Amino acid sequence: MRDVQVWCFVLLFAMVFAALSADQARPASSAVLFEGARLIAGDGRPPIDNSAFIVEGARFTKVGKKGEVQPPSGATRVDLTGKTVIPSLIDIHNHLGWTNQKTNTATRQSYTRALVVDHLQRYAYYGVAATLSMGLDRWDVNPEIPYQLRNEIIPNAARFLTVGRGIAATPMAGPVADYRLGVPYGAQTEAEGRALVHELHARNVEMIKIWLDDRLKTVPKLQVNVYEAIIDEAHRNGMRVVAHIFNLEDAKQLLKSGIDGFAHGVRDRDVDEEYLRILRQHPRVWVGPNLPARTPTAEEATAEITWVSETLPPSQIRRMRDELASRPATAPPNDLFAIQCRNLKKVHDAGMIIGLGTDANIDIGWGAHVELADMVSCGLTPAEVIVAGTRTSAEILKLNDLGTVAPGKSADFIVLDANPLENITNTRKINRVYQRGAAIDRATLKDTLSAEAAN
Ligand SMILES: [Zn+2]
Repeated sequence: MRDVQVWCFVLLFAMVFAALSADQARPASSAVLFEGARLIAGDGRPPIDNSAFIVEGARFTKVGKKGEVQPPSGATRVDLTGKTVIPSLIDIHNHLGWTNQKTNTATRQSYTRALVVDHLQRYAYYGVAATLSMGLDRWDVNPEIPYQLRNEIIPNAARFLTVGRGIAATPMAGPVADYRLGVPYGAQTEAEGRALVHELHARNVEMIKIWLDDRLKTVPKLQVNVYEAIIDEAHRNGMRVVAHIFNLEDAKQLLKSGIDGFAHGVRDRDVDEEYLRILRQHPRVWVGPNLPARTPTAEEATAEITWVSETLPPSQIRRMRDELASRPATAPPNDLFAIQCRNLKKVHDAGMIIGLGTDANIDIGWGAHVELADMVSCGLTPAEVIVAGTRTSAEILKLNDLGTVAPGKSADFIVLDANPLENITNTRKINRVYQRGAAIDRATLKDTLSAEAAN
């Protein structure tokens, strides 16, 4: 008995001593003061030129001007003089797990957890904190992966969200690429539509994706009464509905039918006054403009290839350079881009909520930065597109802890070497990316992501 007491005492002493030494090894406070950066907080207000903000644990606790923000004693200081800080970006439209970036191939078999995680790492590398998969996760190949990955905390990877399985008129009436056929749900009657909403609700999906597109009259399109039933059933269950659209007439009808958001802008023609009038009557409807690839100049394309070589293997960079070299000297006019560009400016001026959606499938992560620049080329200001890609996209996805640099928010932010308000392509000059208060390991990510595929 006595022996046991002695051992208990020894053990207790050892534990206290260990705790004391650990305490001495650690700084007195885990707070970090970041000071000196130009801070673009994502809230639409003018930047704070000489800012200071404190991160404690995973969150921002104080944000203000340098000299006015008092850190707790013992806080670590990080000097960001000359840098610009923006909140991490959020992409409200992707299709992950399809294309292997290392080989530029997409097959029916490619959908694996490892590939989706690789894509989420690409997002994180380029400063994207969270992203929504838009209805084409491989339900036919591995239906549990997207639900398992949802909101999982994976180091050095973006947060993954999903709309679950999207709904078209038939499973063959979604996107046309052969490896995508058969992926969506099909709904031809109101009852089928309502039943699918219940199925998605049971999987805790909060937003439903529908496709309204006859793919140039090659496939059936979701009927108005069917999507109205889907929207009605979704709203009854506290869910929202986002539509892939192509033409103006469908967009008008969807607005009248109570749609919550658009996954694309109007693409078949310039929007008219009637459309803008209907839009103004539905001020809570958002769009992720999801502009089609703009044809870059040779100079822009060369700069872009150099930039993305950080995350693509040399074989893919060679392929991109070869494609650029064989491009005709005079590119034909890019009508699809021009129409959507004009429409974006018009709906923006009409007050529509604009988020950041890239439809990423190949240009995963870096595409978010290209989209920001494309939006600026359509007439939005750099300040406006940064808000679109941060606070507004967080609001659209109901990610209440992301989107701005503000007390209480998750400390997810990007440190830039140059000011994106002067030139939006400066969002590409990433110095560091922070996730939940800690810098992600971009050096290791770069090595992993740009390595040639095994075998
Ligand atoms: Zn899409």
